Amino acid sequence: MGRAFVYVILGGGVAAGYAALEFAQRGTAPGELCIISEETVAPYERPALSKGFLLPEAPARLPSFHTCVGSNAQRLTPKWYKEQGIELVLGTRVKSADVKRKTLTTAAGETISYKTLIIATGARALKLEEFGVKGSDAENVCYLRNLADATRLVSIMQSFNGGNAVVIGGGYIGMECAAALVTNRIKVTMVFPEPHCMARLFTPKIADFYEAYYESRGVDFIKGTVLSSFENDSDGKVTAVILRDGTRVPTNMVVVGIGIRPNTSLFEGQLSIEKGGIKVNGRMQTSNASVYAVGDVASFPVKLFGSDIRRLEHVDSARKTARHAVSAIFAPEATSDFDYLPFFYSRVFTLSWQFYGENIGDAIHFGDFLAGRFGAYWINKGRIVGAFLEGGNREEYEAIANAVKLKMMAKDEAEVEKLGVEFASKV
Ligand code: FAD
Ligand code: NDP
Repeated sequence: MGRAFVYVILGGGVAAGYAALEFAQRGTAPGELCIISEETVAPYERPALSKGFLLPEAPARLPSFHTCVGSNAQRLTPKWYKEQGIELVLGTRVKSADVKRKTLTTAAGETISYKTLIIATGARALKLEEFGVKGSDAENVCYLRNLADATRLVSIMQSFNGGNAVVIGGGYIGMECAAALVTNRIKVTMVFPEPHCMARLFTPKIADFYEAYYESRGVDFIKGTVLSSFENDSDGKVTAVILRDGTRVPTNMVVVGIGIRPNTSLFEGQLSIEKGGIKVNGRMQTSNASVYAVGDVASFPVKLFGSDIRRLEHVDSARKTARHAVSAIFAPEATSDFDYLPFFYSRVFTLSWQFYGENIGDAIHFGDFLAGRFGAYWINKGRIVGAFLEGGNREEYEAIANAVKLKMMAKDEAEVEKLGVEFASKV
């Protein structure tokens, strides 16, 4: 048994939703496009899962955050896909792929063939077991990658009043979940190996601001150590975590955010892999001309960084790589190589920051850290290569983005520090 499509998108996350919109806008005929997803719902804005979805009051629920509302575009409900004649094959895991034969085989044994494939399989959360810690399958330990995980997290959070949570990992998931948990009146202890939170992006000075803010909202930090084991009750529920330094932290629940791995396994040995992702060119085309890769799973050349190959795990990149791939498929002559400005952001409590570019070279801080209106530029070889801003407005964020995009000259670091956002506004 089998079905055949002109276009197949493998994966039904953020990139799939934005690719579908682009397909529809370019006039795909009904019956030509199919999206296969292990998830049981149509593509949605995954960032909502660690933000609006976890709110105690009026939490976000589907269908409100289906793609593409995250970029103020149309909301694609299941009805929309039906009207467009786009086949949504949901709750279906693809278990093997053959790029020579142009076929995918589902876990149920169906063969789906394509002329052009877009791989949008995203990533999976790393498990503590991969670091030698056992027991993270306990019923009150949560990971957060998909709607099912988020639904489970909410029900565990609501199963006790007040109480404590331990958050393992000081990255994006850790920071956003800790904020959500304390907003739900749960006392949080964050545990991570680095000397400060968001160690890959934040400078110690930036991290100090957020850590102090979190502490004022009821979050404790235990830094420079990792979890070594869980303590459980007779039902198998975790009651405390034991850290490598011997500390015991009693808890009602645990949230783990220790990074991800891109879902490349179906294509290993068939397509070129680089930096952990499926390698694509500036048109999002893999080493097989009929196969494209987008979103978290794709490693692509970033022009701004001298066409160095990067894999970015962020929503803006997923949205834009997806639309670019569809544009390259439909209008190869009119589509130039992808020109991307890496963009990262987070929103927690009433705080909100954005970062553009990369954090190499000297970090020059500016602004008022006490008032929560501050930022930093990264200057490399006399030019702005990265910029961070907390609490800015639209014009200010646009200004710092432009400064990075244009690699603005910044010879006088004292002037940059003094002018702050205004320096970028000179562009
Ligand atoms: P995904 O959205 O992960 O979609 C992949 C899809 O492929 C899933 O539906 C999956 O089930 C499916 N799939 C995988 N393998 C198979 C298979 N074999 N068969 C069938 N289906 C398969 N980024 C930001 O920039 N800002 C944020 O604020 C932000 N918040 C986030 C919050 C959370 C909780 C999470 C988990 C991520 C967040 N991100 C954020 C990251 C962002 O969501 C991802 O970069 C983005 O979702 C990547 O899109 P994607 O389509 O490549 O992958
Ligand atoms: P991150 O890579 O952001 O952070 C993982 C954190 O866990 C790091 O601090 C890491 O330290 C630490 N860590 C690694 N191994 C261990 C361990 N064994 N024990 C304890 N800590 C450990 O990943 P997340 O899981 O936070 O996020 C998952 C994905 O979701 C990412 O792709 C992220 O981009 C995305 N996301 C993005 C958001 C946003 O952009 N606003 C919001 C939420 C999620 P080290 O650095 O030393 O490895």
